[in-house]
This record gives sequence, structure tokens and C-alpha cells, in this order.
Amino acid sequence: MSDSRIIVHCDLDAFYAAVETLHHGFDESIPLVIGSDPENGRGRGIVSTCNYAARKFGIRSAMSISEAWRRCPGAPFGNAIYIRGSRGLYSRASRKVMKILKQPAEFFEQASIDEAYLDVTEYVNHDWDAAVALCRELQDNIMREIGLSASFGIAANRILAKMASEINKPRGIFRILPDELVDFFDGRDIREVPGIGKKRATQLNEWGIATVDEVYVYGELSLARITGERFASWITRVYEGRTSNEISPLRSRKSIGKEHTFDYDRDNYEIVLENLLSIVRRVMKSAREIGVSGRLAEVKIRYTGFETHTHGRSIPVSMDDDEVFTSLAKKLFANNVQPDKKIRLIGFRLGHLATPSTKQTRLLSIYEEE
Ligand SMILES: [Mg+2]
Repeated sequence: MSDSRIIVHCDLDAFYAAVETLHHGFDESIPLVIGSDPENGRGRGIVSTCNYAARKFGIRSAMSISEAWRRCPGAPFGNAIYIRGSRGLYSRASRKVMKILKQPAEFFEQASIDEAYLDVTEYVNHDWDAAVALCRELQDNIMREIGLSASFGIAANRILAKMASEINKPRGIFRILPDELVDFFDGRDIREVPGIGKKRATQLNEWGIATVDEVYVYGELSLARITGERFASWITRVYEGRTSNEISPLRSRKSIGKEHTFDYDRDNYEIVLENLLSIVRRVMKSAREIGVSGRLAEVKIRYTGFETHTHGRSIPVSMDDDEVFTSLAKKLFANNVQPDKKIRLIGFRLGHLATPSTKQTRLLSIYEEE
């Protein structure tokens, strides 16, 4: 056990909503929806994100703002709070949190505005109990100094640490020891594995596979006949704890990207989102054609007047799946689009590419503008 790395994944709980709640002094038990102006249920925009109280009504990121209003109206028809959100507040809070998280990490990787991976192996001297104590301390520091709630997952690789941080959310800490993997996966829904989306889960369900241990029992060879070899080999490595534990602060320059400029500036975000998703599917198709997968998703939004922002998020292991990246892109767009600004250009980039070394030089130049 002493030769495995100790990887921590930290994920802030309902981050944007928590920052707004703190800033405005809102009551946590009142549904809070951040997004476009709902215009009393007639708004054409989308939900950026919402707090746990709003999630109880089935409100989700990227849902149309009018649908959210139907489920849970604001004043004078209901008690939900609707606000636009303030980017500046989020990046300031994020920077403070990351500063705290960086301290004990030998290797540190910020995966998005509210998520980071830390390799703390040396800091805790290979001691898994000390790792739990460290996470408790980081959690307390983040709460005391910034007032935000964070969840932590501890495991021997990235994907397991990420799964672990979801388990006791919010304000949870969960550890998966290297020799607990069989127990951990026993009866665990396959949809809990990052990278397995609805489509893949349905496909596996049709073959009577619902849990991770059932995937393994099915066997890599038989599974490959249903899902293809790549997925079968990947999920087998997940089960056996053999996926990546590398935490890298350096953003790879190798990437595949595409973008689209609208013929006129758009304020209908549902249409922009449709365009974005079709760009993502084309990027992923290119990736599969040249045989690479990626670990970083980046959405680029250019508003009227050339103001351009790039929003990224990395995942625990590299993938080449449409569903994974369409859902990431959707979330990145919904969480970051600035309400009521017209959009001129939308783009998507797949980065942190995993590729055989012979292909690397070719990839540096793959970038298309449409
Ligand atoms: Mg989060």
C-alpha cells in the first residue's frame, strides 16, 4: 500500500450559489436560481446554476429559465430568488480557496473554478489516516477563512478520488483505500463512474449490467463485443485501480478546437447552446479519427464588441466520448455565459490530449476556425 500515491480531489459544494448566499446574506433554505432574467416565466435564457434548495424542485444547470420558473416561481408568485450572478465574486473566492489547497500539495492541478486535484503523498508521508486529517483541516480552513463548504475525496488515482468526493456531498470527506476497491465497487451504480453517461448506462443496462462489479464479472472480452475494446479495457482498469494518478499543473498546448461565428450576434442562448453541442460533436469526431482522447474541455464565448472568455474544466481520465464532452460543454456554457449579452462566436477545445508519441507533432497544428 505504501507504493501508491495519495490523491485528493476537492470540490466546492454548489459553489456559485454558496458565494452568492454568503455575499447577499440569503437564507440557504430558500431556492436560489442563478441565470438569465426569468421575465416572470417568459425569459428565453437558461439556468446557470442553483442551490440545494432549488435542486429539490428538479431545477438543473442549463435548464431553460422559464422551466425553472414553472417549477419554482419567484416573487410575487413564489419565494424563489432569481439573480444574474457576478463572475468577479466567483473568481475572487476561487483564488482564495486554491491558495489554501495548494499548500500541502506536492503536485497541484486546478480542474475548474471550483475543483482541484492534489497529490499529498509526501506531505502526509504515505499515511492514509493523516490524509483524512489533512482534508478535515483544509475543509475547516476553507469554511473559517472564506465561508464556503467543500467536499473531499481521497484515493490512489484521479478517477477514484473524484468519485469519492461525490459520496458524502455536501461537506463530505470520503476515502477509498487501495485494498477496498472490490467492496467499493460492489453494487455501485455504473452511472457514478465519471465518463459513463446516460447512453452508455442504458446500453449496459440492456445487457443486464447495472453495477460496476457486474461489468467486471461480465469480463473484458465479452464486454468488448458490446461496447468496443477501448471502453472495455478502460472500465476494467478503473475497477482494478489502474487509471492515472498523475497530477499536472501544466496545461498541455496540444489541443483540437473548432469555433463558429454567427451571422448576427445572438441573444437566444438555447440556439447558441445547440450550436455549441454540434461543435463539440465535430471536435470529438476529429479526435476519434486521429485516435486521441482528451482530459480538458474548454468553451470559448465571444460577445458583441470582441470581449472573449474561455472557461475550462478537466476530467479525471482522458476520454473521447461525445456524451461526456457535450455534457461538460453544456455545463460550462450555462455556468459562465453572461446574462443579457449578445454572443458573436462560440467555440470548443479539447485539450490535455493523450496520444501515442508518434502523433504528437502533428497535433500541435490542429485548430480550425469556421
Ligand atoms: Mg462543485
